[in-house]
Amino acid sequence: MNLLYNSTRNAEKKVTASQAILKGLANDGGLFVPEYIPKLDVSMEELKGMSYQETAYEVMSQFLTDFTEEELRHCINSAYDSKFDTEVIAPLVKVGDIYHLELFHGATIAFKDMALSILPHLLTTAAKKNQVTKEIVILAATSGDTGKAALAGFADVPGTKIIVFYPKGGVSRIQELQMVTQKGENTSVVAIHGNFDNAQSGVKEMFEDKDLEKELARAGYQFSSANSINIGRLVPQIVYYVYAYAKLLENEEITSGEEINVTVPTGNFGNILAAYYAKKMGVPIGTLICASNENKVLFDFFQTGVYDRNREFILTSSPSMDILISSNLERLVYTIAGQDAEKNAELMEQLREKGEYEITPEMREKLGDFVGGFATEAECREAIRTTYERMGYVMDTHTAVAASVCAQYRRDSGDGRKCLVASTASPYKFIHSVMTAIDEKYASAEEFDLIDELSRISGTDIPKAIEEICSAQIRHTRECDAGRMEETVKEILGV
Ligand SMILES: *Cc1c(COP(=O)(O)O)cnc(C)c1O
Repeated sequence: MNLLYNSTRNAEKKVTASQAILKGLANDGGLFVPEYIPKLDVSMEELKGMSYQETAYEVMSQFLTDFTEEELRHCINSAYDSKFDTEVIAPLVKVGDIYHLELFHGATIAFKDMALSILPHLLTTAAKKNQVTKEIVILAATSGDTGKAALAGFADVPGTKIIVFYPKGGVSRIQELQMVTQKGENTSVVAIHGNFDNAQSGVKEMFEDKDLEKELARAGYQFSSANSINIGRLVPQIVYYVYAYAKLLENEEITSGEEINVTVPTGNFGNILAAYYAKKMGVPIGTLICASNENKVLFDFFQTGVYDRNREFILTSSPSMDILISSNLERLVYTIAGQDAEKNAELMEQLREKGEYEITPEMREKLGDFVGGFATEAECREAIRTTYERMGYVMDTHTAVAASVCAQYRRDSGDGRKCLVASTASPYKFIHSVMTAIDEKYASAEEFDLIDELSRISGTDIPKAIEEICSAQIRHTRECDAGRMEETVKEILGV
């Protein structure tokens, strides 16, 4: 039996997993969700001994039921290979009494690689299965890390083109350099004059534009998405939570069935939603702790039941979390509305029109799996510094937000369950912020001059991704106003 998917704004029309991956976003602007969350059909005992790739197969095959075993294994093995600098793909590191699940060992040294190294394979397989003959144009909006990971994943993949929009001035220097030096004939990178939410809204509008769809179809193109609105991004992210639990068990850090809490540094709500899905699959996860930076729209939502994006957009040292419209929250809202697409559509309409909505008391009751927390810039710096001083471990700014919130939660709640922190980026990606947090004396130094120093104090090797950008040539210089994204896409595609 195939597990089917429907839009969060219309539960009537069902599509297969491969069709949902191909489309990215539903025609009505909703996000694809599975009809139900499947249970794991292997035991934790069996999972204990499995490699990352084997675990990925066990998890993903439950969701992507119209992929054959051969197809799925091929996608998995093509993604999780020597592009990662460790055979275990996602290592667990114990830092004090917190377990860091390091998700930054892929090609672009942020956790987006976990899903974006497999998405191109899932997408091209899905295209073949559905006899798609048009060239697939991937549109992505990025707050810094998705863009590079998607570019790296799709570069020179036959039958695809990729166009990435990022907010000019809203990403770190290293993130920007990683993108603008991207090779591949099919890649384009555009800096927009606006913030991430402008970029994301612009991309979503293009997906929903029927006239544009027809115009592109005549020219032989169809759009798809590499953002975490694509279910093909979300499903691979469930894998590492299952894997982490099994490894904790294998290493005898926990006993069979013991619940752990999970803290996730959150922006678009994709990563933490994957942890929620892992819990629903049967992984003994207790509380899901949603960690925000000073753009704490999600913290307020969990606190009050009101989602309100009408506030100042703050540029922080954790730019990949500088987001006021967390797209994937829609999938949770749909779930807590009792899979009521109409109710969800109504709330999302309010968000679009007024920038806010309030969920019902019944819906709030179903949020019990989550708590929200946030860390200020000072708290984030403090977490980086004290963790380094006490344990010699250097965290990036995003992970530090989560570590800080995790510690706050423990202190305030007295919840003594063991805690896993999703460690989402390498400190080498945000060197200047990280080093300055450790010691103010680095404040006046140039980012690139601190690379060797970070390597020295952390005792870690400089990642390949960083060595590469030091010498790479800039290939992309295009900029546009936030209101002119569609024209820019047409220009790039020559339509
Ligand atoms: C994207 C990103 C996040 C936020 O993840 P979401 O799935 O958007 O919530 C956190 N940290 C880093 C380093 C990221 O790149």
